[in-house]
Amino acid sequence: MNTVVNFASHILQGLGLNKSVHAFNGGVHPPEHKIESSTQPIGQLALPKILTLPLRQHVGYLPKVLVKVGDQVLKGQLLAEAEGTVSAAIHAPTSGTVTAIDAQIIPHPSGLPDTCITISSDGLDTWTALQPVTWQKTDKKTLVDSLRRSGIVGLGGATFPSHIKLRSNSQSTIHTLIINAAECEPYITCDDLLMRERASEIVAGIEIVKHLLGAQKCIIGIEDNKPLAGLAMRAACQPGQALVQTVPTLYPSGDARRLIQLLLDLEIPSDKRSTDLGVQVFNVATVLAIYRYFAFGEPSISRIVTVTGNVARPQNFEVLFGTPLPDLMSAAGGAHANTSHYIMGGPMMGFDLPNSQVPITKAANCIIAATADLFPAAPPAMPCIRCTRCADACPVNLQPQELYWFAKSDNFEKARDYKLFDCIECGCCSYVCPSTIPLVQYYRYAKSEIIAADKAQEAADLARERNEFRLARIEREKLERAQKHAERAAASKPEISRAGNSDAPTAAPSDAAVTDKQAAIAAAIARAKAQKLAGGAAPAQPTPTAAEVKASPADKQALIAAAIERAKAAKLAAAQAGLTPKNTENVSASVQAEINQTDALREQVQLTKATPD
Ligand code: SF4
Ligand code: SF4
Repeated sequence: MNTVVNFASHILQGLGLNKSVHAFNGGVHPPEHKIESSTQPIGQLALPKILTLPLRQHVGYLPKVLVKVGDQVLKGQLLAEAEGTVSAAIHAPTSGTVTAIDAQIIPHPSGLPDTCITISSDGLDTWTALQPVTWQKTDKKTLVDSLRRSGIVGLGGATFPSHIKLRSNSQSTIHTLIINAAECEPYITCDDLLMRERASEIVAGIEIVKHLLGAQKCIIGIEDNKPLAGLAMRAACQPGQALVQTVPTLYPSGDARRLIQLLLDLEIPSDKRSTDLGVQVFNVATVLAIYRYFAFGEPSISRIVTVTGNVARPQNFEVLFGTPLPDLMSAAGGAHANTSHYIMGGPMMGFDLPNSQVPITKAANCIIAATADLFPAAPPAMPCIRCTRCADACPVNLQPQELYWFAKSDNFEKARDYKLFDCIECGCCSYVCPSTIPLVQYYRYAKSEIIAADKAQEAADLARERNEFRLARIEREKLERAQKHAERAAASKPEISRAGNSDAPTAAPSDAAVTDKQAAIAAAIARAKAQKLAGGAAPAQPTPTAAEVKASPADKQALIAAAIERAKAAKLAAAQAGLTPKNTENVSASVQAEINQTDALREQVQLTKATPD
């Protein structure tokens, strides 16, 4: 008998209830196991002596640690601030001393150690100064920026930082806020108890989130196996605040896209987000945390956790983040001796904890003490018989059996073509498979292989681009150098032709320098010629000008020739005067004076001869 039950439409039609609720394809109805933990009110734990806070408690970048070992911290104090766009802060759950910042095993499917901050409680539980915000009188951007410091993430299990979901409405208009209170996984009852006990605070949180999103409408979706929660929420809602809508108990109605389809008859295409169509979804516990942050300034330091399964007193507890699992188990009366392991989350999408000492984190909505009776090991997988039950159960309308074949044969591109990445890993296909094939594990394997290959390809593309850029830069610099050489050669051509020397250096002097040198040469030649023509007493030797001193070798030859001419003329004059060259200048003046006197006497004699007596 096909165990796949598409309860949504059948129940609605059969009971004539919730006519405004629609249906999605597939889904399964495993045993609920909710009653065990939902008969007691939310319990409180004794203050743990040690709290261990993994930095990796959310989707996105790790936060930046602000404290060091030995620091005294107060309850609610910021220990690590959000770093990067998608990140969330971590706060001290109680007052005490930071005793370690090191790698420890964290509750994660990988089972690997990661950085944690350990606080030794001082037992006083002293709060830091809290800063409530009057959200009605504060602009939205300030409120969302403030939420970045709150450490609040999606408490339904997704752990996506809430401030990111609230700031994105600048690009798309949100008309409807959906509050996800379906809690469809078996065993988990934390949202149920939260709604029963704290409905008014949840509704106050809804008002804040509606305001931040600008949404006009809000629908609270609750599975019909939580009648008390539905009643409490209806009683808390004022007219116009929110519509409480029950949906059929059918796994996975708590998946955001399935819930939107149930409540709005709106199917979100796989390549779009719900916000593209004007719908945003928040978990019921998350809106309560947002309310407490703005109303009291309380950052995210605790959550409600369902403790169930093979324990003495299954119950929900308010648990500080970082609380060791044994403390929680003790509060529930302890796990029975035959407990084989612990599951975090529900049996459909949860995972086995790596050990029994890990701390409680923001994602820990439920801890199940497991036994072989409760969760018998799956029999060995048999060959696929192509019964298509998995396809009937798939809420995303995939072909799980095809995906299985492609994943098994490492035909990852085909798996991608068959929309492997639309798979939400809900486990419905595995749940109904008569061959007990662990289908979801095959899908996870194929996804991780494709992601790794994509990353490797990305790195290779990046390296190739960088190399191409480097080669282009080298070529460009080469061209620039060649162009500069050509320009210099063109500028030096007139100088070469004037000098008549094709072997002249390529470095061209400036026009002004060339003109100075030519003038100096011309002046030197003129002086030499004048002295040669004068023949007699040579004029005093002028000191060479700066231009003459700086002249080129060719110029210098001309200058030397001129200097020789001047020296010869001076020597001749000195010889005529019978004097040494040292006083040539003075002697020349006295000789000139005698010549002038002689000339004057000669003129007088000639005049006397020519005049009659
Ligand atoms: S994978 Fe399982 S459920 Fe799907 S067709 Fe094969 S045998 Fe049937
Ligand atoms: S695990 Fe994936 S393939 Fe299987 S039913 Fe869920 S969505 Fe479909």
